[in-house]
Amino acid sequence: MTERSRASQGAGKDLLVDGGAEVVEDPDLTVEALARAAAKKRPSAILVGATRTGRIVAARLAAKLRLGCLSDVYRLKVQGSSILGERDVFAGKVVAQVKADLPCVASVKVGTYPKMSEGRTGLEVEEVGSLQGGVRLVETLEKRAATTDLRSASVIVSAGRGFRTKEDLSLAEDLARALGGALGCSRPLSSDYGWLPEELHIGLTGVTVRPSLYLALGISGQLQHIAGIKESKVIAAVNTDKDAPIFQVADYGIVGDLYQVVPAILEILKS
Ligand SMILES: Cc1cc2nc3c(=O)[nH]c(=O)nc-3n(C[C@H](O)[C@H](O)[C@H](O)COP(=O)(O)OP(=O)(O)OC[C@H]3O[C@@H](n4cnc5c(N)ncnc54)[C@H](O)[C@@H]3O)c2cc1C
Repeated sequence: MTERSRASQGAGKDLLVDGGAEVVEDPDLTVEALARAAAKKRPSAILVGATRTGRIVAARLAAKLRLGCLSDVYRLKVQGSSILGERDVFAGKVVAQVKADLPCVASVKVGTYPKMSEGRTGLEVEEVGSLQGGVRLVETLEKRAATTDLRSASVIVSAGRGFRTKEDLSLAEDLARALGGALGCSRPLSSDYGWLPEELHIGLTGVTVRPSLYLALGISGQLQHIAGIKESKVIAAVNTDKDAPIFQVADYGIVGDLYQVVPAILEILKS
């Protein structure tokens, strides 16, 4: 987290909580800052992005404030003295409706609401004093090559295990570039093989995307992947297996070898 974290206050009003602390990746600092601000401001709901850190923050904050906590929710609405939300369960096959009494904490599924614009002015700032974290910053490492934010990309070319080597991913990158889009992937490519950064993995445990065009190359279309792409306007897929589940959700499909299909598309785009 940076030294400042943002909390939602009241009906859509934003509060910038200034912890004045060192820039440390310590969820406990965020929890402490938000708890202090909440004790003063008494918000009816505290919404935290359901990122890896955000989930930890939401749960610990709720425990600290002795409030209820909704996890990984979206389509939130206030009804009387409660807040209602939806939550994907069974890998997105079923949508559960969940409810908590206000006030409460909720971790909100990433990508389901537009990002708050950075550098926004006019925010109310709440100083919460200095914070003591249990984490000591030893070293700061640069993040791996900056990539486009998938949540705002209008075209995404996504690579799956149909790619045989890391080097072959240049095919997907070239196509993404030619279409003015961003590169994404299925989970095995980032989490198992380490071929691409974690933030490019799309799906239930990764990013939820909603581009105008989602092009899946060599991705089978397991439920956990589909959970992150089902809001896309158009889904297209290239797969050698005509029975691959991805074709059940795709608007357009090419049954073929991506090693032939992608160069052919690139050739057409060039000409
Ligand atoms: C709790 C949990 C959470 C998970 N969360 C996620 C998640 O968020 N996101 C995610 O993606 N996965 C997730 N998974 C993993 C998921 O279940 C699948 O294992 C994964 O999505 C499969 O990735 P894939 O489609 O790239 O690989 P595979 O399922 O192996 O599919 C590869 C596809 O490539 C095709 N192919 C092979 N060669 C070619 C070629 N030359 N040209 C064209 N097509 C070819 C094959 O026919 C096949 O359909 C999760 C799993 C669990 C248990």
